[in-house]
Amino acid sequence: MKRKELESLKLATKVIHAGGEPDKETGAIMPPIFQTSTFVQSSPGKHKGYEYTRSHNPTRTRLEENLAALEGAKYALAMSSGMSVATLVLKSFEEGSTIVCGDDVYGGTYRLFTTILNKAYNFIFIDTTDTKLVEATLKEHKPALLWLEAPTNPLLKITDISKTAKIAKKYKTLTMVDNTFMSPIFQNPLALGADLVMHSMTKYINGHSDVVGGCLMTNNKKVYEKVWYLQNSIGPSQSPFDSWLVLRGIKTLAIRMKEHERNAIKIAKYLESHKQVDSVVYPGLKSHPQHKIAKKQMHGFGGMITFFLKGGVKESKKFLSSVKLFALAESLGGVESLIEHPAIMTHASIPKKVREKIGIHDNLIRLSVGIEDVDDLISDLDKAFKAVK
Ligand SMILES: *Cc1c(COP(=O)(O)O)cnc(C)c1O
Repeated sequence: MKRKELESLKLATKVIHAGGEPDKETGAIMPPIFQTSTFVQSSPGKHKGYEYTRSHNPTRTRLEENLAALEGAKYALAMSSGMSVATLVLKSFEEGSTIVCGDDVYGGTYRLFTTILNKAYNFIFIDTTDTKLVEATLKEHKPALLWLEAPTNPLLKITDISKTAKIAKKYKTLTMVDNTFMSPIFQNPLALGADLVMHSMTKYINGHSDVVGGCLMTNNKKVYEKVWYLQNSIGPSQSPFDSWLVLRGIKTLAIRMKEHERNAIKIAKYLESHKQVDSVVYPGLKSHPQHKIAKKQMHGFGGMITFFLKGGVKESKKFLSSVKLFALAESLGGVESLIEHPAIMTHASIPKKVREKIGIHDNLIRLSVGIEDVDDLISDLDKAFKAVK
């Protein structure tokens, strides 16, 4: 399909058709898995665009075409994890550069930035939902990059992406949005003015909890070329088989996101009215502090819910070990519902003092709502509440 034709299609069509032409040789409707490390050349240096799978692979190319289409980007790169995308994006900036980053980003991102990449870059962590603070920080430090998560993990704080990206442009700072929680179906940061967008494909994009992967989408040719150069030199390119699995999973992304959201709205309301719950954070609730921004910049509220159980670690542990359908596990965005305790699990690498300061208390529970029947999910939670009592 020509780029123009593709651009005119809706997302639910793009997820199925972008990068999805029938195989030229056989007509196979599903793309072949080019499970090969190298490609034969007809004479030295003369080949069909593929030389070695670390550099390029046709199955990965198809996935990258699909990913680019979903975020309205010219370029996409698929890698073996979200963390390798973060590492290579950072490495594409000069050592010594200043990076401004949201203060409650994914725990692994925080660990990467504060214990590994901090040797090469100066990091400043701020609450990016405070646009005045963003402006003041950017004005003073003129950072190379502003790194956002919107919504954040696990507090689901929502930064106004277009407002923030506009401020960043003023100071020649590039804006990166980690869009993992929304998927390209519910939010498109490039259209809102961001320069770079990344996803952990491990989560919603693949959606079946059987692949670890990450991707970068951008219209910035310079950054794309630098990051591709790093990927080719360092080596975290997504494997052909995993690229194929993601291409398979992505076909149902639009319909999955709708179901995640439908279930999450019902569960958020159920939790909000429950006596054993202190408070619920879900972008779709009117009580969410940035509900208005969510409505403006997102096309859906997603499947992630954070809530504060009445009590402390003891009650939380009891609750987490009493659910049966909700699996107690890290990660998110799969078809099955997951439950976790950030203070003990995903965000344990953040020092307790810092955690408490940003609001990740010991009674905070995070749900990744799956696409099971919502009545079964609510009854599972109901039993856990009763067990805590
Ligand atoms: C999981 C996650 C990552 C890291 O991705 P991996 O694929 O696990 O390396 C980054 N950002 C967010 C928001 C995530 O949820």
